[in-house]
Amino acid sequence: MQDDITYDLAIVGGGLAGLALSIQIAKAGYKVILFEKEQYPFHRVCGEYISLESWDFLQNLGVELESLNVSHIKRLCVSAENGRSFEQELPLGGFGISRYRLDHTLSQVAKQKGVTLYEQTRVNDVQFSQENFNIESSKGTFKAKIAVCSYGKRSNLDVKWKRPFILAKKNKLNNYIGIKYHIRYDFPGDLIALHNFKMGYCGISKVEDDQYCLCYLTTADNLQSSGNDIKKMEQTILSVNPNLKKIFNECEMIRDEPVIISQISFDKKELIEDHVLMIGDAAGMITPLCGNGMSMALHASKIAFEKIQKFLQGTISRELMEQNYSSEWKENFESRLRTGRMLQRLFNTAWLTTLMIRLGRSFPGLIRALIKKTHGRPF
Ligand SMILES: Cc1cc2nc3c(=O)[nH]c(=O)nc-3n(C[C@H](O)[C@H](O)[C@H](O)COP(=O)(O)OP(=O)(O)OC[C@H]3O[C@@H](n4cnc5c(N)ncnc54)[C@H](O)[C@@H]3O)c2cc1C
Repeated sequence: MQDDITYDLAIVGGGLAGLALSIQIAKAGYKVILFEKEQYPFHRVCGEYISLESWDFLQNLGVELESLNVSHIKRLCVSAENGRSFEQELPLGGFGISRYRLDHTLSQVAKQKGVTLYEQTRVNDVQFSQENFNIESSKGTFKAKIAVCSYGKRSNLDVKWKRPFILAKKNKLNNYIGIKYHIRYDFPGDLIALHNFKMGYCGISKVEDDQYCLCYLTTADNLQSSGNDIKKMEQTILSVNPNLKKIFNECEMIRDEPVIISQISFDKKELIEDHVLMIGDAAGMITPLCGNGMSMALHASKIAFEKIQKFLQGTISRELMEQNYSSEWKENFESRLRTGRMLQRLFNTAWLTTLMIRLGRSFPGLIRALIKKTHGRPF
């Protein structure tokens, strides 16, 4: 055992879900340890548009968003591969901030609140035995009463535990790649644009300072058919959309190399794995075109916190904590994920995307209704 302490809570993965949960638990006076395999600050693939539903929650955690110079985003533009587009106001709107800055700020708040934060520490297994968890990590073994996994879209533990989405054959909801750049570009600061191309879409919106996030999702097949050459894929597939061609030709890349992730899956996942609560993308990932994954990760941390606190106070059993967490998670997110999967299928079919854009131009109410179905209320 690395130390003699039995932590109240051990968290695997320090993205938004894990960091937010660690802060809430530490503020409530409990002993919490968080493992993150990377070292803050670091870049990660994400469109970096956060729905406004998370604003108050982040502020209450101790993140002073205005002082981080976030952008305020109020309008949405969607274009089809042929460049035809519609534009409209977002029902709630959102803000832009790089994950580099946001996650780093949250990690600093976590440390201030007393979270034991192990960076550059990979967790290799979590085992439940005699009402406690043993967490095996690259820095030794630790003990905790509760374990939460918030390790994101895909991790070594998913492979170790043979979670069904890892074993699933190739289908329309898995085997995606995500690619992100930070760029400088002449573009309205209050607009988020989603430009479609064959088997994918690319978002652009302002983050802090004078930077823009350019991030796209596509199939691994698109990259393979471009000889695994990202630049070639951008020139021959993405740039068929004239809007994307213009951006790639005119923008200034802040770093030459993009951040890349592969093997993204939107398949269903279990919420509890051998008494471990799964939160954030580890519990289920909404398709990025909905722009709501970050708010869902933050919101799930709040739901988990409320149940964990009751268990630690001794007012509910472990079984009830797990049941209550699962049912509230489903109540809040299940239908959003379903709509996200439906939209993903739709946006992967060129003629349906073109039809959607046409409908969007004529019936803005339809688009507003779809946005509402993939978003929640402030929490
Ligand atoms: C292309 C793309 C664009 C997106 N755009 C948006 C958007 O614009 N708006 C939005 O709201 N959402 C967006 N999302 C979704 C959003 O990025 C995620 O929903 C969100 O990051 C989930 O947060 P999380 O805390 O669950 O996981 P993450 O933020 O992925 O954090 C997981 C952490 O766990 C760590 N980890 C993994 N395994 C281990 C281990 N074994 N030991 C220790 N640490 C480990 C990782 O290093 C990582 O830091 C996008 C996603 C993609 C793929």
